[in-house]
Amino acid sequence: MVVNSANPSLGEFDLIDRYFARSKTATQRPDVILGVGDDAALLRVPADTELVVAVDTLVAGRHFPPDSDARSIGHRALAVNLSDMAAMGATPAWATLALTIPAADTHWLDGFSAGLMNLADAHGVALVGGDTTAGPLTVSIQILGVVARGSALRRSGAQAGDILAVTGTLGDAGAGLALVTARLATPDGAVARELVERFEYPTPRVSFGSRARGIASAAMDLSDGLVGDLPKLATASGLAAHVDVERLPMSRAMLSLVPAAQAREWALAAGDDYELLVAVPPRRFDELAAAARQLNLTLTAIGELRPGNGVTWALEGSPFTVPVHGYDHFR
Ligand code: ADP
Ligand code: MG
Repeated sequence: MVVNSANPSLGEFDLIDRYFARSKTATQRPDVILGVGDDAALLRVPADTELVVAVDTLVAGRHFPPDSDARSIGHRALAVNLSDMAAMGATPAWATLALTIPAADTHWLDGFSAGLMNLADAHGVALVGGDTTAGPLTVSIQILGVVARGSALRRSGAQAGDILAVTGTLGDAGAGLALVTARLATPDGAVARELVERFEYPTPRVSFGSRARGIASAAMDLSDGLVGDLPKLATASGLAAHVDVERLPMSRAMLSLVPAAQAREWALAAGDDYELLVAVPPRRFDELAAAARQLNLTLTAIGELRPGNGVTWALEGSPFTVPVHGYDHFR
């Protein structure tokens, strides 16, 4: 495709060459037989593995404020895909990028490519191809990873009696987004920075996902909020889920910012946290929590899986009505 460049000196192929053909990792990974530059990439998949594939799209104005920092957009576009690999217990290896931009703005591209490439290099992921088109800002990344045959984590593996647990803290990204969009303000600069960072630069839990293979019975990542996502895991496993809302892990930063009821609402439903939700047999919980600790991550039990279907919520032992629903693009 041809980019209608606002800057005539930077055409489509110069743009690709300058920003996306120089993935450090792509030149280092021996399994990249052909990367950017041909009609398609050629990758060598190890014989004893399964290929794990996911794609996620970020649309300006829908997944991030249109005036977001370009570096954050690049980071998030890859982070949400790495999070899908984490949820499968897979090791991410390669990615392709379909980038639609209104203009070939070099200032924007500098930031975007730095955000994307820094995170890719940090995870040893090679950018091996893509497509560049002119149009409303939309970033679509396809991620490819590998997992030892038969060992991927699924949503469907949970058993009745398993503990439900989440990594990290929930709701911070929702609080960060409220700060970014100026629906909320705080004089505490450190708190604001911490929460905004959680929205703009989420940390995909790739190492933890890997460690959870063979211990957790089911996993998924939390992109749409617990209220929206937990029913998907429960339904896939053919079970009911119960959550004690007072156990939800929430950051000091978020709790210092708003009343507990608002914090709880963000933790339940704001989404964009990219923490992992796992089901784990009770006898193996300590082992998984220890693995998390080694990664400087907390793992918090929030409830359990039970025979039946549907999700029930309790606060201090009383039934709790969840205030809001998870994100759905078409509702
Ligand atoms: P084609 O005409 O075969 O679609 P393109 O002209 O679109 O190829 O792209 C040329 C090369 O650059 C291809 O190898 C493609 O994978 C790569 N490429 C294009 N856009 C990007 C991008 N945004 N990021 C990474 N690689 C890209
Ligand atoms: Mg193309």
